[in-house]
Amino acid sequence: MKLQQEVEETHTRYAQDYVNHLLETVVHRNPYETEFHQAVKEVFYSLIPVLAKNPKYIEYAILDRLVEPDRLITFRVPWTDDNGKVRVNRGFRVQFSNAIGPYKGGLRFHPSVNASIIKFLGFEQIFKNSLTGQPIGGGKGGSDFDPKGKSELEIMRFCQSFMTELSKHIGQDTDVPAGDIGVGAREIGYMFGQYKKLIGAYEAGVLTGKGIGYGGSLGRKEATGYGAVYFVEQMLNEKDLSFNGSTVVVSGSGNVSIYAMEKAMQLGARVVACSDSSGYIYHKDGINLDTIKRLKEVENRRCRDYVLEHPDAVYTEGCSGIWTIPCDIALPCATQNEINHLSAELLVRNGVKAIGEGANMPSTLEAIDIFLQHNVLFAPAKAANAGGVSVSALEMAQNSARLSWTMDEVDAKLQIIMKNIYRESMKASEEYGVPGNLVIGANIAGFVKVADAMLAQGV
Ligand code: NDP
Repeated sequence: MKLQQEVEETHTRYAQDYVNHLLETVVHRNPYETEFHQAVKEVFYSLIPVLAKNPKYIEYAILDRLVEPDRLITFRVPWTDDNGKVRVNRGFRVQFSNAIGPYKGGLRFHPSVNASIIKFLGFEQIFKNSLTGQPIGGGKGGSDFDPKGKSELEIMRFCQSFMTELSKHIGQDTDVPAGDIGVGAREIGYMFGQYKKLIGAYEAGVLTGKGIGYGGSLGRKEATGYGAVYFVEQMLNEKDLSFNGSTVVVSGSGNVSIYAMEKAMQLGARVVACSDSSGYIYHKDGINLDTIKRLKEVENRRCRDYVLEHPDAVYTEGCSGIWTIPCDIALPCATQNEINHLSAELLVRNGVKAIGEGANMPSTLEAIDIFLQHNVLFAPAKAANAGGVSVSALEMAQNSARLSWTMDEVDAKLQIIMKNIYRESMKASEEYGVPGNLVIGANIAGFVKVADAMLAQGV
């Protein structure tokens, strides 16, 4: 017994040393890419128990290979603005891993986009996509183009120029992009139109998040937000808690936030706050979702305009203040690192019971530690926001079969997928000695399938 324990300890130390050494290499090889380092660190540390139990993953350098993308493509995106001035942005596509299926991951248009952001998102996408149980690999892309304040024609010209280069690297069996921040059905439509023109064929499965009339899936728009709420509800139910009667704060007011709010409200929650990158609204009696949907989805306006129609609500400039609002459940659905250790401490002090990450990497590593130390139920992004890419995979399946499922059919499949992700993450957390720790459970469950495929396919 004692001997076995000593062997296990030796294996764990060996795995720790391997991970520490590899992390140093990652930082050295990718200087200044702080978001990428953060994402890799979170995943690698959580994999130590698997590596200790399965030394072949170390022997065959699975992590060394996973952390180096198959390729990172950067390109010039020239376009002409409405004044006839030529502008130049930078485009990216990272193809991280196609061990279990074609590269798959969204496109982000935001001025903060750089190689570090795209690589952190692409790296996380490998494990998230594996967790969904669908045959999709990991990729991500985007541009530092800022869609804010651009005219419809400027957006169209930019999307066409972006796709002119991107089209050389994607395809329905190689790499299938979708939307993300700043890229919704409108942008996907312009890019799909350009792709079709360039290749001279109707390859519907090359992009997901398309309009319903030309190959899109019902339920894709709602999938990430609904999926996050389904996942959190599952986590709450295990502790005899529920959205019903809870007070909820949701950051952002984009695609993920709006549909997370909608589903939380349908399940009986009172959503009291949401935000955009300028500031946040607090509406004690509950946010009016019809107003938010109109302001954001139709009129392209700001959260501050909400109080013009609802004078009993309060608008505050600045984003991080939203986490000072007491709530039972917090759903960060805006962007990376929006909850730091200070916000996490405040949330805990104000009695938060659960966090559900709708956005990618919205909590810093320090914030996650605080939540876990205080036994706050924590649904990590890789698991909680996997509903979006899951329905994207369902869109690909419908495109291949040339048929369309109803909203009820898609929603039923989404609910099953989110339940499976919860179950698999929980099972892995129990199997590796950290029961209930879904951060570690989700990383391990996502990793093992990819690692085994890599072993089977050789070096
Ligand atoms: P959108 O562009 O539709 O919405 C983003 C929202 O977040 C906007 O309201 C934006 O405000 C707000 N926002 C941006 N930066 C900040 C900030 N610093 N503080 C507060 N609010 C901010 O993007 P999505 O909803 O699609 O994506 C949101 C997150 O979810 C991202 O992390 C994305 O990677 C992730 N995600 C998205 C999926 C999808 O299917 N769309 C799938 C899985 C993950 P403003 O309008 O002022 O910029």
